[in-house]
Amino acid sequence: MLGACNVVVNRLRYDPGMIRRLLVFFLVGFSCVAASRQTRNVILFTADGLRWQDLFGGMDPLLKDAKGTGMDDDKPLRTRLWRETPEERRQVLMPFFWSTLAPEGVVLGNLNKGSSVRVTNSFRVSYPGYAEILTGRAQDGVIKGNVDIRNPTPTVLEFVRQKLGLEPSQVALFASWEAFSLIGEHTPGSIVINAGYRNYEGPHDIERMRQLSVLQFDVLSPWTEERHDYITFEMALEYIRQAQPRLMHIAFDETDDWAHDRKYNRVLDAIGYVDRSLRKLWEAVNESPAYRGKTTLIVTCDHGRGGTVEDWHTHGEEVPAAAQIWVAIIGPDTPALGEAANTSEVFQRDIAPTILDLLGLDYHEYEGVAGRPIRAAIKSE
Ligand SMILES: [Zn+2]
Repeated sequence: MLGACNVVVNRLRYDPGMIRRLLVFFLVGFSCVAASRQTRNVILFTADGLRWQDLFGGMDPLLKDAKGTGMDDDKPLRTRLWRETPEERRQVLMPFFWSTLAPEGVVLGNLNKGSSVRVTNSFRVSYPGYAEILTGRAQDGVIKGNVDIRNPTPTVLEFVRQKLGLEPSQVALFASWEAFSLIGEHTPGSIVINAGYRNYEGPHDIERMRQLSVLQFDVLSPWTEERHDYITFEMALEYIRQAQPRLMHIAFDETDDWAHDRKYNRVLDAIGYVDRSLRKLWEAVNESPAYRGKTTLIVTCDHGRGGTVEDWHTHGEEVPAAAQIWVAIIGPDTPALGEAANTSEVFQRDIAPTILDLLGLDYHEYEGVAGRPIRAAIKSE
């Protein structure tokens, strides 16, 4: 494929008349690619504000002994998670992600190895970030921070549902943060959304959902707008088993909440829970004939945060470093490259077009989309 491209490029320099034939070549080529995808289902998993420094490097040496981070009262955690090298530290922090998931797919965003993933919205806070993930564009003129408005653009969740002619129950979003009721869909009722402290009211009468709906009000988190990720995840997992959605977004929040509270020890605990959840999720995928071998998992975050002892806990317009994020993609159409190094830069707005491409849809048909499918995440023919 590479050889053919080189020939085409070389001939283009000397033969401008090739352009028409080239266009046909690419159009035919792209339609073949779209038709040959094996991905039938996509699960998007987001961990709010999980820093690339922690994902790729495990416990941060700058924060290990820093005062006012919760680390000084948590010696057992430091002993359990501290190792000499970043590779050892991340392995002990996220054993499933680094030993099973990453080698089967591609993980982009380790700045220390020449791989950058960046948000393009100017705000570097959650709503603009999730909206960029879910619509493939920054909407700086309207979504000016964590505003209390409905997403002005139909999301990729809604677009996929419409393009594939799916029932609303086949596209679902379970989130810890209540704002997802506004972020996840432009037209209320397009898809199934359960976000924040909310009873499950979707399709299927599921006993486990009823138990979790009650439980969430008895095990309150320290925050009013965000319930525990445990509730969100267990509901999402049960929904996958019972309703078998084709497209699913599971949105965790505690990695961000504990960071704002300046409890780095709890952030690390929350990252550990992210890893255990990914393990359970991937096991559920592999146990199900509806999902095994035909499901792509995309794991990412809405924004980064600071990289110093002074600003690690925060993010936003005043923290430029919070623009750096990361993304992991694993599935039947993704090459097993593991941790990427020295790659071209990828953007948060590229995730929605990547979802469309993996599902065999033409992302150009998603009106106003600004991103492009992430090439490193898709096998070349
Ligand atoms: Zn935040």
